[in-house]
Amino acid sequence: MSAGTPWRIASVRAALQAKQISARELAAEFYGRIYKRNAELNAYLTLSPERAYAQADRIDAAVARGETLPPLAGVPMAIKDVISTRGVRTTCASKMLEDYIPPYDATAVERLERAGAVLLGKTNCDEFAMGGSNENSAYGPVRNPVALDRVPGGSSGGSAAAVAAGLAVAALGTDTGGSIRQPGSFCGIPGLMPTYGRVSRYGLVAFASSLDKIGPFATNVADAAAVLSVIAGHDENDSTSAAVPVPDYIGETEKSVKGLRIGVPEDYFGAGLDPEVKEKVQSGIALLEKLGCRRVPLQMPHTDYAIAAYYIIATAEASSNLARYDGVRYGLRVPGGTLTEMYRQTRERGFGPEVKRRIMLGTYALSAGYYDAYYLRAQSVRALIARDFADAFQKVDAIVTPTSPIPPFRLGEKALDPLQMYLADIYTVTGSLAGVPGISVPCGKTKAGLPVGLQVFVPHFKEGCVLQIAHAFEQAGGSTI
Ligand code: GLN
Repeated sequence: MSAGTPWRIASVRAALQAKQISARELAAEFYGRIYKRNAELNAYLTLSPERAYAQADRIDAAVARGETLPPLAGVPMAIKDVISTRGVRTTCASKMLEDYIPPYDATAVERLERAGAVLLGKTNCDEFAMGGSNENSAYGPVRNPVALDRVPGGSSGGSAAAVAAGLAVAALGTDTGGSIRQPGSFCGIPGLMPTYGRVSRYGLVAFASSLDKIGPFATNVADAAAVLSVIAGHDENDSTSAAVPVPDYIGETEKSVKGLRIGVPEDYFGAGLDPEVKEKVQSGIALLEKLGCRRVPLQMPHTDYAIAAYYIIATAEASSNLARYDGVRYGLRVPGGTLTEMYRQTRERGFGPEVKRRIMLGTYALSAGYYDAYYLRAQSVRALIARDFADAFQKVDAIVTPTSPIPPFRLGEKALDPLQMYLADIYTVTGSLAGVPGISVPCGKTKAGLPVGLQVFVPHFKEGCVLQIAHAFEQAGGSTI
């Protein structure tokens, strides 16, 4: 590989088969890069060289025996630290789980390894995936490799930064309300949120169970398709994983987009949208039209209510999911006099401020007397938003919007104002509530050189179509628009 050309899945495979490099050498090259850059970026929290080299040696032995290599053979990958890895510390970027070593692998991790991937380590994120800037990590923020004074987005900021900086060929993130798409947008790489149920959540530490999804980051859309092909599909360990057959995503990615109807919702281009982001996304839509897509103006009237509904539902589910960190069953225990005192002290010291805020908000929304006014109403709004999407998909094949209303902001700029941070999720949480798949694909840069993302939503289980559009856009030069 010449310097500056990023490794991609296909080039790793070709180089291994041609014996230009061994999987062990490739892993060593990536660890070399990590040792050089991680102190600055803080993208990785834990490295797993023993596991990585053992896997690399298995791949090298398969190459030596002349075997057909599995689809991700030798591909160096990173895993967001909310996804369980057997024998490798999984902190969720929280003090609560500082020393937690899972006894089993998440299904997605197991599938990646079975497909030959080499897992380099675990990436930083917002604590328990709660945040949009990676500043809520108990282990310090991540820097955006494109602009070091800026956030990489969140919550999967470490995974996005690792891939964008060439410290992994691809990575897993999780997306509950935007945590793959927004950091993908901020770091200038594709990030895919699959349909709810497309990828097993077994082994994913729960934040908001009705919204959580695992999905890939890669340097290009074809690689994201390759990773999705491996991790998608039913899993008997997760009853919410769907028994929908997994198509050939790589094949679908190659299809022409000619004649596709793309909906452009007016509601996503109003107040609050940064003018430079708007301009880039409009140029992006014009590029799709040039490729033969037909633009259809849309109305999605419940968009304005999405943030409120999302932050009630997500915090309600979080308050319930995080009740398990009581000092008895997992992680940290701070001994106190009485049992109640032990609970109190453990949770006081184990959780950071944003996690506490959400537990309190969620507990409030679920408590007697407020349940109907907040939680049930939010569920009704969720149904209306899902209907906006269903109605739109009667008329169009895909919906195209900005991923984030603003380009990556400066570290610290919004850290003290949670509401401002929440409002920046406006374009991503809608699709999350509807449970549809979405991607963010690079769509040029602002004058200051900050990446902009184009978001594409499609109907449930049509990941092939979202990849097809993103791929055509990428191939037509969307990232330098
Ligand atoms: N920024 C959103 C939040 O803080 C999304 C988080 C996520 O998708 N995990 O809830």
